[in-house]
Order: sequence, then structure tokens, then C-alpha cells
Amino acid sequence: MTQTIKKTIAILLLNVFFGLVLQCMGSIAIAKEMIDRKPLVILISIDGFKPSYLDRGITPNLKLFASQGVIADGMISVFPSITFPNHVSLVTGQFPEHHGIVNNVMFDDTIPDQLFTLSSRQAVQNPAWWNQANPIWNTLARQGKISSTLFWPGSEALIQGRQPRDWLDFDGSMSSSIRSEKLLSWLSDSSKERADFATLYFNEVDTQGHHYGPESKEVNVAISSVDQALGELRLGLEKLGILDRVTFVITSDHGMATVPDENVINVLPILEKNVTFKMQWYGPIAGFANEGKSNEADFLNQLSKVEHMSCWSKTKPPAGNHFNHNNRIPDILCLADTGWTITNDPSRKVLRGQHGFDPNNKDMHALFIASGFQIPNKKIGLIKNIDVYNFLCKLLQVKPDANDGSSDLSDIILN
Ligand SMILES: [Zn+2]
Repeated sequence: MTQTIKKTIAILLLNVFFGLVLQCMGSIAIAKEMIDRKPLVILISIDGFKPSYLDRGITPNLKLFASQGVIADGMISVFPSITFPNHVSLVTGQFPEHHGIVNNVMFDDTIPDQLFTLSSRQAVQNPAWWNQANPIWNTLARQGKISSTLFWPGSEALIQGRQPRDWLDFDGSMSSSIRSEKLLSWLSDSSKERADFATLYFNEVDTQGHHYGPESKEVNVAISSVDQALGELRLGLEKLGILDRVTFVITSDHGMATVPDENVINVLPILEKNVTFKMQWYGPIAGFANEGKSNEADFLNQLSKVEHMSCWSKTKPPAGNHFNHNNRIPDILCLADTGWTITNDPSRKVLRGQHGFDPNNKDMHALFIASGFQIPNKKIGLIKNIDVYNFLCKLLQVKPDANDGSSDLSDIILN
């Protein structure tokens, strides 16, 4: 082969190479234009995250969201300050007595063969437990909008005949980072229309808070891990070219309080004298069902003499408690003072961190940050969990279903 022919072939090959490069660049440009620019609201829950965790210097990404948007001094949970009731209130704007998810453990005479617990996939996926209220993904679906929920209580069940378009069976072993990655994969899937609303749920801060307490180094590791996953989510959205269209609403369901081993209230002696009362719930909030015709007043009178808790009949709840009108709420309720726990088995291990206490107690306050598209930059005071649903509907420009919340949060942030 002569030098000239070699040169010609080389030039031809170079032309082909650059042609291909240019073609690729062209298709990248077209793909970018095709990326859906419609707004996206992402509701995030970091289970058991107290606002004071932000002061530990280990949450650069949460700090960035807060510094560019709105952060509340705290968010007051609905009663009881427990995971499932609060997650469902966040997405329905209804009190637990109305949406029906009154605790993580529930008994219901009309669902006689099933106990509701978080670990029972059968119960968690049974519509009968959930049908009392429509979550926001149903509100959105009826108004033509799409939801992708990477875990949220209720997302696994068909509720009033509907479900989010994208959802997964809950998998507590999936790392926070993989959860962000999975959500990003849904949002970037070009084979179907991108969602208008997404959720992301992280449980590791709650899990470590329960085992080791809110002051532990283990909880700090979990806080850092979730913060990092949020940084990865943000970066992924930026790479997708939609970060400027995303509103982040970052919440938690409740706080966490330290419970020393000795702060146990043992009600077993009283139960042994009142055998028709069955203890359905134990912990910071205890619930007793009257399965006979025993005198409730007598039982209440005996309970009221016990220190470090207050008790009432569900028909006479404390003011502002909104925890009465549902058959799943036991007849008699007792609430421990913050930092105490109620049991009928003194040998049961005491969890170092617990929640379920009075939602007005600062240790129970939840996190609220809103940041990104449509959100101004300001600090706000204490807000209420029950108002978040209306705020989300306002961001998403849909008409909310009837609910127990007000427009207070939307007014403070968006006006
Ligand atoms: Zn929780």
C-alpha cells in the first residue's frame, strides 16, 4: 500500500469517526429536548428524624435544601406520634380517627381474621384496612396526574380501587442510596411518561434511633447515610436536566425520645384484677379493649393512680386529641410521660429510643423542609402535619379531597 492510499484510508476513517460522534451529539441534543420539563413534587420522609439532628454538623445536603428554601422550627404530628398514622395523615390531610390507620398494630371486628402489623404483607396489602380515605396519589390520578412511590405506607394496597402507577413491596433491607437510585431510574425511564409526584421513604434513622437512642453514634451514621442518599438524588435530577423543575418536600413522621431502662410502667397487676380488659397496644401509648361487661370507670380509676401516665376513655379524649371516632381505637387509652414506657410484661426489652408520646412535646416534633421549584427562602415557626396534604395539592395544582387540614401552611409558604 502506498503512503497516499494509507493517508486516504486514514482520512476516510477519521471522517466516519467524527461523523458518528456528531450524530451521537445530535441525538443527545434531541434527547435532552425530549426530557419532560413538567414540574415534579417529591415528598420525602425520613422516619424518626428530629429537627435537632440538623445541628449535628453531619447533614450538608439537608442543610443545603433548607438554606435555599423553607425550614420550619418543627412539625407537630397527629396523635399518636407513631409511624403509620402520621404517614397516612401526611398524604390524606385527615386525622387517624378519619383515615382509619390509628396505629402500627390494629384490631378490627369487621376484619376478624387479620391482625394489622407492619410486618404482615398480607395485612399491609389488604384494602379493607385502607379504604377509609383517599391518599394524594388517588386525588392526583382522578385529575390526570401520575405518581411514583418508592415506599410509602398505603402504596402497596389498592385503596378505593386505585394505586400509584409505580410502587414496590416494602423492603427494609434496601439501602437509602439504592432507594434514591431506584426512584431516579423510574423518573428517567423514557418508555413511559414521567410522574408528576413521587415519594421516597427512609427508615434507617428510626431503626437506629429505636435500638441505640437518639443521642447514639449509630443514629448519627444513619443520619449521614440518608443525607448522602439525598445528595445523590439531587445530583441525579441535575444530570437528568430537571432539577430546576423539582420541589422537594422533606418531612419526618415524628421525633424520638430516650427511654432509660428503669422508666417502665408495669400495668400487669391492674390487668390481673380486670381480666376482661385486653391490652392491645403497649409502649408510650397503651390501649385496652373491654371484652366483657366490666366497669370501665373502676378500671380507669385504678389506672389513674399509676404515676408517669395519664389515661382516659376514648369517648372522653383530651382536648384537641382527635382520637375517638373509630372502632379500631381501643376503649381505654393511656399516654406515658415523655421518656417512659407502659408494659404488661416487665421482662420485655425496653427500646432505648421511643416515640408515640404527646406530639406537642419538643422531642416528638418532626422535620419539615420545602425547597426548590416554586419555594421562596424563609424560616417559619411550628407547623402541623395535618396541613401538608393541602400544601402538596396546591403545589401540584389539583383540587384536594375533603380533609381535616387548613390552608395555613400553603398561605405561610406560597403567599
Ligand atoms: Zn416512624
